[in-house]
Amino acid sequence: MVSTNTLIKNLLNVKNTVVESAENYTDGRGVKHLRVKARPDKKHQCRCPFCGEKSPKDGRSSKDVRVWRGLDFGSVLVEIESETQRIKCPKHGSIVADVPWAYPGSHFTKDFDLTVGWLAVYLPRNAVAEYMRIDWKTVGRCISRTLNEIEPERAVRLNNLVYIGIDETSYKKGHKYITVIVNHETNTVVWAAEGHGKSVLEKFYRSLTKEQLESIKVVTGDGAKWITECVNEFTPGCERCIDPFHVVEWAMDALDEVRRGVWRDAYNKAQELKDSTPKRRGRPKANDLQAQAAKEARNKADQLKKSVYALGKAPEHLTENQQLRLEMIQTESPLLYRAYCIKETLKIASIVLALVGVVGLFLAFPVGIAGLVGAGVCFLRFKNLVKSIAENTISTNKDYDERILAGKQKIEDAAAEWKRAREIVQTFESQKMRDVVA
Ligand SMILES: [Zn+2]
Repeated sequence: MVSTNTLIKNLLNVKNTVVESAENYTDGRGVKHLRVKARPDKKHQCRCPFCGEKSPKDGRSSKDVRVWRGLDFGSVLVEIESETQRIKCPKHGSIVADVPWAYPGSHFTKDFDLTVGWLAVYLPRNAVAEYMRIDWKTVGRCISRTLNEIEPERAVRLNNLVYIGIDETSYKKGHKYITVIVNHETNTVVWAAEGHGKSVLEKFYRSLTKEQLESIKVVTGDGAKWITECVNEFTPGCERCIDPFHVVEWAMDALDEVRRGVWRDAYNKAQELKDSTPKRRGRPKANDLQAQAAKEARNKADQLKKSVYALGKAPEHLTENQQLRLEMIQTESPLLYRAYCIKETLKIASIVLALVGVVGLFLAFPVGIAGLVGAGVCFLRFKNLVKSIAENTISTNKDYDERILAGKQKIEDAAAEWKRAREIVQTFESQKMRDVVA
């Protein structure tokens, strides 16, 4: 059987520690405590918590007794009690000597801090606080000590960035914004700050060194002007791309605009028919063709109004009713259906490319506009290009052929752009390969 001393040390998961005694007591609230009296062993005594160097004792100040919380043993609250020792580090001055079980300045054991850090990834803060029996604010302090342990030099995240994504997102129902920078290669967040807009993004760029700025080759994001401005200002040699995600979002907006327009027309037509029908009492008779037509027109307008979800959803998730509505749109409103098809091809294209692993860089655009333009692939770099294609193909049916031809030209131009961008990426890739080999 192991000695009690070893058992306690193993349970506390500490090294370089001497356990002097252990006792149980119950506090005023009926909570059971296990208080372990311990001290650093000879090897670990009088070490500076920052540089780890052995330093002379600071004879001027008296010793203090301090208590650290450890991880609970079941329902028993565990504490380590120890006398602190002040030392005089030549580099760091007069400070409290390090203890092997805790991070500097912490009132908790290392395991405790790390456990809180892990829990906080998966649980809301107040749940962590309640479960670990600590203050809400203490959770934050434990997390920052955990972060220091995992990533002592957080600034290295900003080294060697090549493909980055910039996004802003809101919380508290759109009242608060944060700007987030991700590294597309590692899929990690490298920087975040409260607020959005140019001034916030500038803070990110200003925190980078010249070398760090130079390594960035591709920046993705939505079409916001302030992103383009910052990219041009700080990394002029960089490619500025639009996230496929955002392109799909624009297509959705454009589609909804088309839908509203089509609905308005249908509604006005129904209203006209209704007004021109002489009013009669009771239901319209079966042989009253004009009244029947008015009713049908009204019905069609209503269906269009209710088609938001049918148009927005992925085809495989449509309910039977939504499918019928879509079929109705296909026969009754070719314009709206065409817009829907374009939105779907965009979505599929962006998913396929995400799988290929070039998220945010390319956007394949096989255009299925009623078979007039064959499948083409284009790389959409600028919002204007995206918008002009969307406008040319979605929002109008006037001068249809002419616009399709103009659109085709744009798609061909974009295809050339795409090819060029691909070459750029291939150069990056081969450069990276060369670096690895070297
Ligand atoms: Zn030191």
